[in-house]
Amino acid sequence: MKSPQVKELARERIGILVAAALKEKDEELAARQAKLAKKVAMRFRVRLPYEARQLFCKKCKAFIVPGRSARVRVGRAKTRAVRVTCLKCGHTYRRVLATQ
Ligand SMILES: [Zn+2]
Repeated sequence: MKSPQVKELARERIGILVAAALKEKDEELAARQAKLAKKVAMRFRVRLPYEARQLFCKKCKAFIVPGRSARVRVGRAKTRAVRVTCLKCGHTYRRVLATQ
């Protein structure tokens, strides 16, 4: 059950689900796909990829899509961080952009 191949498959499945959720226009369907991705991650004990983790509100855990259910404001150029406001619960948090 916990062989590396199974985990690899789970990760692949999560990636597909998250991509589908992002493309989905129907908010409810998108939330369902996102939840499923989380479920798969828990079931196979794999971590959600970084990009996927950013898509869930840190407070209400809702699936939030930047530009749709979340407002993203870029802060000062020096900080390389953006402010994300969840439009579902109003919670605001800072998201530090990955440095390259
Ligand atoms: Zn929220």
